[in-house]
Amino acid sequence: MDAVADLADHYSFGELRTTHEQNIVLADVRQSDLPALWQELKDHGFDTANIGYLTNIISCPGGDYCSLANAKSLPIAEAIQRRFDDLDTVYNIGKLDLNISGCMNACGHHHVAHIGILGVDKKGQEFYQVTLGGSSNHDATIGDILGPSFAAEDMADVIEEIINIYLDNRQSAEETFLQAYRRLGIDTFKERVYAKAY
Ligand code: SF4
Repeated sequence: MDAVADLADHYSFGELRTTHEQNIVLADVRQSDLPALWQELKDHGFDTANIGYLTNIISCPGGDYCSLANAKSLPIAEAIQRRFDDLDTVYNIGKLDLNISGCMNACGHHHVAHIGILGVDKKGQEFYQVTLGGSSNHDATIGDILGPSFAAEDMADVIEEIINIYLDNRQSAEETFLQAYRRLGIDTFKERVYAKAY
């Protein structure tokens, strides 16, 4: 945070803004300063160009920090980001919103994500319900529940399987996850995900 504040002072009149997608905007950077700013961001490890893609996850604080949580959110986000740590793969998957909430208060907006993850409590254990097909754009849609919830250690595998189903069934690289989901329907995803022993 100190580093970003220094960059804002240096490049953006001391102004920065946070977004609901949990990114930071430096709002007034001189065009000629962009290469130098990018180099400084790179030095701090802030240069991951993934906005709008799978690994640009919205995640609520979850059970690590929030007393209302049913389950942790941040370790699930981290596991998914580690699984998809190759930007070429992320770009091939294309535009995709994945959001995580640690309880039904939905601070992570999971219900309007293309892929949503909701922490649930099952007899004192942390589990995760998955929803597909939500949207927070002009075609606002609540995601459909895929089925029974999954254990934390299975979540990266479950998300990878959902992505593979999309990649195997998309008509072209131009058909986004959300478009493919709306064409295919939830059963295509449900059958293949639950055919595996999670
Ligand atoms: S969604 Fe639930 S767990 Fe997450 S921050 Fe909101 S109240 Fe806390």
